[in-house]
Amino acid sequence: MSRPTRAFIDSAALRANLQRVKACAPRQRVMAVVKSNAYGHGAIKVAKLLQSDVDAFAVRSVEEALQLRETGIRKPIVLLEGFFQSNELPEIAKQELQIVIHTSKQFEYLLKARIEKPVTVWLKVDTSLHRLGFRPDEIEPIYKMLKQCSNVAPPIRLMSHLSCADDRQDASTEEQTQMFMALARHLELETSLANSAGILGWPQTHCDWVRPGIMLYGVSPFPDSVARQEGLQPVMQLQSALISVKRLRKGDSIGYGATWTCPQAMPVGVVAIGYADGYPRHAPSGTPVLVNGRRVPLIGRVSMDMITVDLRSQPNASIGDPVLLWGKNLPIEEIASLAGTIGYELLCNINSPLKQTP
Ligand SMILES: *Cc1c(COP(=O)(O)O)cnc(C)c1O
Repeated sequence: MSRPTRAFIDSAALRANLQRVKACAPRQRVMAVVKSNAYGHGAIKVAKLLQSDVDAFAVRSVEEALQLRETGIRKPIVLLEGFFQSNELPEIAKQELQIVIHTSKQFEYLLKARIEKPVTVWLKVDTSLHRLGFRPDEIEPIYKMLKQCSNVAPPIRLMSHLSCADDRQDASTEEQTQMFMALARHLELETSLANSAGILGWPQTHCDWVRPGIMLYGVSPFPDSVARQEGLQPVMQLQSALISVKRLRKGDSIGYGATWTCPQAMPVGVVAIGYADGYPRHAPSGTPVLVNGRRVPLIGRVSMDMITVDLRSQPNASIGDPVLLWGKNLPIEEIASLAGTIGYELLCNINSPLKQTP
């Protein structure tokens, strides 16, 4: 017997979501974003499942990239934040990692580096996210110097990141795209702009390479839709079980702070999942949970390792019965919205010890 809490990874759903990417962007190359341990799904597992059907992977650090190389992933791996210190460059070159260059500092280090082979560079332009990247007017001189640099392997590519693509009405996506495309045309560079929201909602952003993250994991990037409406399938099935069922009396209160009180005599279940597992502490009473495949409301506060649920609609539920916290038939988007966050954060918060292959 062990604690019944698991995050199952549905590999068929993952593959189906990649096919959805390809249906949206059939002529583009695909850089699968597996940063942050593949949004909590396990980067090694996800990369192995996808590697034969994608053109590259994207991660956030050399450490994440090396983990993939060590398990035999040979596909190009792009470091989305480039490198942080110049002493990372020899390993980057040796492992054939590709780097995003977004600061003059990185650019200077690269020009001066002593490395055994040239590295592939993605030049990042800031088209209004105002996070990483050079101003559009700074790009051309940097590009010209990079082109002359023996440490840089051709082709140099141009990338940017959309700031408001998850809002289908926002005019700034069109403006960002125009600015980006004008620069790319002028310099005749290969391009990449679209994240999941761009792939699903803005065909004009597809360019040469798309960079899907959240949609691969079967979560909608839009605040007003769930996976199914976007043709996606939830990959993570967050599961647990009832570990206690008891009949409480009218007036009994539930959990820390006694925030919920039984309006009548009723059965209450305890589920082995809590905020230490990554279930959001801010999920309020009323947040749905599937017990035996049917919705019941969470009641009272989320504890570190447990939650309590109202079992009035399932008087026969008993210890050991399966519980789903999100996944198929229970959209993570709904839970995220109730907890005041987004699916991205919920996925990333799932602790790695929970991960299990079905
Ligand atoms: C994380 C990230 C992506 C993927 O974004 P999603 O919204 O998850 O599809 C794409 N590009 C960059 C630069 C990123 O940092």
